[in-house]
Amino acid sequence: MNDRSNARKEQRKKRYQRQMARQQKGSKRYQRTRLNVARIQRYRANCIKNMAHQVSHHLVADSTTMVVALEDLSLKNMTASAKGTVDQPGKQVRQKAGLNRSILQSGWGQLRQYLLYKTFQRGKLLVFVPPHNTSQECSRCGTIDKASRRHQSGFACTACGFTDNADRNAARVIARHAAYGLIRNKQPGQELSTVTLRPIPY
Ligand SMILES: [Zn+2]
Repeated sequence: MNDRSNARKEQRKKRYQRQMARQQKGSKRYQRTRLNVARIQRYRANCIKNMAHQVSHHLVADSTTMVVALEDLSLKNMTASAKGTVDQPGKQVRQKAGLNRSILQSGWGQLRQYLLYKTFQRGKLLVFVPPHNTSQECSRCGTIDKASRRHQSGFACTACGFTDNADRNAARVIARHAAYGLIRNKQPGQELSTVTLRPIPY
């Protein structure tokens, strides 16, 4: 989805919504504005679905990929955590609200849902990894340190000096956790063949 045109559509939707607030409920003009809002919402939902289908297909279609690793994010919890309470609204509520919007916008829930059935259809494995500290962990040496994530988009390990794009580093960490999880849960006498772990590129 094009970010700029998406932002423009979002602005236009807000303008229509403000218009609706001024217009008399049930009037012809009100109905027309309401349809405009609905059209923009429908378009965005379709874009998200489309993207989720494309990404999930891309991940499972490769014949060398047997396992897809996904961070086990709970959309419900994430949305709830941004609200905070009335007494303690939380310092980073604004930031989190922005994060939620982008997660919801990017269709994480749909991606997860599509991956579930697409991996199943092709006899591949979908592994969920607990999300704890994945963004603060070094994919090279395994050290977990908040200070390694001083910048939003960059990762710089305080222990071994490894630097990378933060998302790519997190994706590698997720893949490694998935691999360790698979090996640990191996049944006695069961062989584990070499698998290609492919983290979600987000
Ligand atoms: Zn390191």
